[in-house]
Amino acid sequence: MNRDALDALIATYRLHPEPALLALILAAGDAAAVLPLLATLDDQALADPVMRRKAGALALAGRDHTLARTLAEAGREPEDQMLLARVALAEGDSVIAGVAYRRAITANPTLEDVDLAAAIALGADASPTGDPEKLTNVVSFSGRRTERGGTAPHSLAPTPLEAATRVTFADVGGLEDAKNQIRRRIITPFLKPSLFEKFRRKAGGGVMLYGPPGCGKTLLARATAGECRARFFSVHIAEILDMYVGQSEKRLAAAFEEARRETPTVLFFDEIEALAARRRYGSNDASASLVSTFLSELDGFQQNNEGVLILAATNVPWAVDAAFRRPGRFDRVQFVPPPDRAARADILTALLAGLPGANALDLAALADRTSGFSGADLKNLVETASDLAIETSLAEQTQGALSDAVLAQSLKEVKPTTLEWLTTARNYAKYSNTAGQYDDVLTFLDKHGR
Ligand code: ADP
Repeated sequence: MNRDALDALIATYRLHPEPALLALILAAGDAAAVLPLLATLDDQALADPVMRRKAGALALAGRDHTLARTLAEAGREPEDQMLLARVALAEGDSVIAGVAYRRAITANPTLEDVDLAAAIALGADASPTGDPEKLTNVVSFSGRRTERGGTAPHSLAPTPLEAATRVTFADVGGLEDAKNQIRRRIITPFLKPSLFEKFRRKAGGGVMLYGPPGCGKTLLARATAGECRARFFSVHIAEILDMYVGQSEKRLAAAFEEARRETPTVLFFDEIEALAARRRYGSNDASASLVSTFLSELDGFQQNNEGVLILAATNVPWAVDAAFRRPGRFDRVQFVPPPDRAARADILTALLAGLPGANALDLAALADRTSGFSGADLKNLVETASDLAIETSLAEQTQGALSDAVLAQSLKEVKPTTLEWLTTARNYAKYSNTAGQYDDVLTFLDKHGR
């Protein structure tokens, strides 16, 4: 069906919402053309699970991950879990993807998909924590649509992953300083509020984690929730910003409300700078109103934040407006540095687990030689080495293996990405270190002689 015909069909369906028409529209498989329609459909229009999944797959193809996730979470069949696995993978969350995938194929082995399984297994988090037995605390944020064109921010779809993997500090390699700081400044006040009250210390507002990309901010946030035995509720600012005017505010307010609904909860905002940058460059009322919604929700939490811990992460702390760091908002910041040697060894161990030849590798030497690598860089390194081993296997018609030589070869191709971040951070720390907010970066640079 060409685009004009499809558009005509969509226009007809808007006037006469017949299920048969919708089936035709979905069957055309044109994500870009149907996304605006999908966003306005109600639960009833997508009551048929096959249609709903089809719509979810199209939303995923059109990169509307929030919608795709909502549609996947609306059902509890293995096929829905499969869709959820794909959405989670697209979002870069291999832990959830792994859990959902295993659930799907355990219930219905015919759904097995080797490509998807391989993509998930290469995700760093997949193996060590992906045991469905350990499931307890991850909740994803999703709004459920109820009426045509509307969003009901208060009725959030219950997620089948309410019990997803409980990640704790044990799953985070190294980073002892950051863990100790988080324990002392975040977890203890959260778990023992009355002790803090006795000393007239307030547990305070939110905590902003900052550091180079791919170094475990999200992982630490999730592990903090695990340590607090709290639900983990994650909101991607960039996704919220993509929404129509007015919807973003509703979504944000709903996230705060949902977090309060069932405590203890860790409410995590990823890429918080997207909001702050919007405040600076956005000139229209809509962006200003989103930021003020956010700040007033935060301020409201100062009064009534029992059982909810607010965390945020950013790779660009210097782009975050100072208004965000006022008392009661993100008044504590925590540097999450590039993984130290111990952390790199841990991450590599997890990444290499079960790969052919991994047991014979000189991990200590590899950890030594990967200074400046982020967790994501290490993942890239192991993937590159695996690709080389696969190529050799194919060329030699025997199953090859990873070896120190293969990893040395990969090290020539994969370069560390944290150095550039550290250079930029050093400049900010030197020239605009108001209130010593980047002292930890300077200490880190001193300690590592950079
Ligand atoms: P960030 O939020 O800082 O951009 P993530 O937390 O998403 O980074 O980490 C990127 C990837 O690297 C994840 O797959 C994570 O599991 C892995 N990783 C990073 N740091 C660590 C660490 N210290 N221990 C274990 N895995 C890590």
